[in-house]
Amino acid sequence: MTTFHTLGFPRVGPQRELKWALESYWRGEIDQATLISRAHAVRHNNWQTQLEAGCDVLTVGDFCLYDHVLNASFLLGHLPQRTNTTNNTIDQLFLAARGRAPSGTPTKACEMSKWFDTNYHYLVPECHANDTFNLNPELLLEEIRAGLEQTKQVKPVILGPLSYLYLARSVDGCDRLELLAPLLAVYEELLATIKAEGVEWVQIDEPILVLDLPEAWLNAFESTYQSLATAHLNILIATYFGGLENNLSRVFELPVQGVHLDIVSAPEQLAPSLALLKPTQVLSLGIINGRNIWRSDLTASYQLLAPLASQLKERLWIATSCSLLHVPYSAKSETNLADGADHWLAFAEEKLAEGRLLTNALDDAKVLLGRDWLAQAERVISRQQSKRVHKAAVKARAIEAASRQWQRELPYAQRLARQQAQLNLPDFPTTTIGSFPQTDAIRSLRKRFKKGDITLEDYECGLKLEIEYCIKAQENIGLDVLVHGEAERNDMVEYFGELLEGIAVSANGWVQSYGSRCVKPPIIYGDIERLQAMTVRWSQYAQSLSAKPVKGMLTGPITLLKWAFVRDDQSWESTAYQLAAVLQDEVLDLECAGISIIQIDEPALREALPLRRDQHQTYLNWAVNSFRYTYAGVAAETQIHTHMCYADFDDILTAIQAMDADVITLETARSANKLLQTLKREPYHNGIGPGVYDIHSPNVPDVSAMSEILEDSLNVVPAYNLWVNPDCGLKTRRWEEVTPALKSMVRAAQALREQI
Ligand code: GLN
Ligand code: ZN
Repeated sequence: MTTFHTLGFPRVGPQRELKWALESYWRGEIDQATLISRAHAVRHNNWQTQLEAGCDVLTVGDFCLYDHVLNASFLLGHLPQRTNTTNNTIDQLFLAARGRAPSGTPTKACEMSKWFDTNYHYLVPECHANDTFNLNPELLLEEIRAGLEQTKQVKPVILGPLSYLYLARSVDGCDRLELLAPLLAVYEELLATIKAEGVEWVQIDEPILVLDLPEAWLNAFESTYQSLATAHLNILIATYFGGLENNLSRVFELPVQGVHLDIVSAPEQLAPSLALLKPTQVLSLGIINGRNIWRSDLTASYQLLAPLASQLKERLWIATSCSLLHVPYSAKSETNLADGADHWLAFAEEKLAEGRLLTNALDDAKVLLGRDWLAQAERVISRQQSKRVHKAAVKARAIEAASRQWQRELPYAQRLARQQAQLNLPDFPTTTIGSFPQTDAIRSLRKRFKKGDITLEDYECGLKLEIEYCIKAQENIGLDVLVHGEAERNDMVEYFGELLEGIAVSANGWVQSYGSRCVKPPIIYGDIERLQAMTVRWSQYAQSLSAKPVKGMLTGPITLLKWAFVRDDQSWESTAYQLAAVLQDEVLDLECAGISIIQIDEPALREALPLRRDQHQTYLNWAVNSFRYTYAGVAAETQIHTHMCYADFDDILTAIQAMDADVITLETARSANKLLQTLKREPYHNGIGPGVYDIHSPNVPDVSAMSEILEDSLNVVPAYNLWVNPDCGLKTRRWEEVTPALKSMVRAAQALREQI
């Protein structure tokens, strides 16, 4: 019999129950016992769902209140010392995660970082030379025992020691690998403790194996797993998000009883792994996609795996490619998706059913004739053949777009002269990134409109008043280049998702981003079309209210792509060009409507970089070219801006230059001016606004701190290229914070003008 299992399950709850419980607890509305009982109800339901769907082993230990890496830090007795101000374990976790908890002294929260190439953020463990570890098994043991009450076969999942250290950061410059020996002693104790609970298998996640690892880290695997083997517990070492490539044979040589491979993202590793598998080892194949939401082509999977099933028998495990953490709970409530796309979706629950069905078929070919199998095949074929998905003209335009290198006709210096002649901006022009506070009034206006309580006319009237307020406020503050404030947008990606054909927005497709925060990625299901202009009316209205230029505001192709669920039937590149094409139409419409500055945000350019370095250049080539396609055809007089956040621009500065926006605004304030150091090494030649203050903090920045960043910037940016702006959009702030902050910023710019 073939085994079916998952690598992990979403944990926010089908209706985001955990989110609501956490936030109530943090606000002091419920006590900790209530929080825990609500969290355990979610967990119980998760397990029930998986068992009823036919998981042969139940994965436990993947549940957590905030983050699984944070839980690992707790398990290993390695939370930052500054969180030791409370005896309450749960509050200690929240102190580390958020810097605040109902008990304990407020402190600095741990840094967050993106979990590989997903949109999930983990809390970065902090390492110092001579750190000690000690086992804190209480939370994990409670979970194992609770799981054992529901089924005999539980498989705890823990983050592997090497991935734990690799994903950590060294606070004092110590070599994290030097902490491996003391860490391993705790892991050995941990495995023995787990074994004593009567557990047979443990899943140890080592996702760093899909990265380009330094030799020293790779070499550490063998001795690490030798020492873990001494616990005599069956270890399934799990890798995901990519292929092992050169590390493949090394992994199969480890003294482990099973290996999990992601054959959705790296199908090519299947064949060589069969040759490497030892005669007693289990091969767990992640064939149900844990990163995307499409119904699986089980017929293709069956054809691939049937020969293996008869060869490996019970040593073959069928699995999700990675934890289902990255997909929403259930597609059951998605009955209203554009064009009937709901028929094609598989969220976590549907994926369980798919995995079970495939496993059943591998065990008994009669399943191939059953109703469920045929219904699944029908869904897959209907998407493959749908006219709602495939539009010849859209495809043809994207192919044409990809076939050329797009470039502005005039070089930057000549464009700048022409733009300046029109715009007449002062030195060091001041501007913002786009959004202004999303007030309760704006949110409630949108909610009432969506519910049908107010008419379209009332809604638009309300938005116009907000825009008017925002323009006036900016004029009072004294900004040079204004924005309309994005009051009409709930989210910079979802907004365009709602307006474009070929993209659907789900009703309840929430995915955890970090802690209690969830995102609802739009679903790109078909060739993309724009039936009408999306932003022109708002920009035009805003511009009509001011003599100063008001920027048009769009989200770029890579960000739309990266923050959505994407198609699996064509390349990212093709979809990017389709998105770029509709954006180009919008850019030209904005220009036609008299908008002289157009900003195309690309905050996700960096995070869409492939995990492996040898794929970076190919990605950057099409990413940059598709961005340039969005503004192909605009006049030299039209000024193109872009914006990016998230500190690390080091390895993409050449690409950013190649994007050739007239002005880029970037995040700097939060990352201790790392950008400026990068610019010192590699000068940037177009307009640039290194963010002068951190919008993520509610504190009003003082003029001198901003002046300092500006003066430092002048060492690496010529004066005629320097812009003055905050480091990201202001939608999460309140007007009481934004107004004084921007006034100070304008003062800093004025002071600089007087100095020069
Ligand atoms: N224009 C967007 C805003 O200001 C940009 C947001 C972002 O960079 N994430 O909200
Ligand atoms: Zn930003």
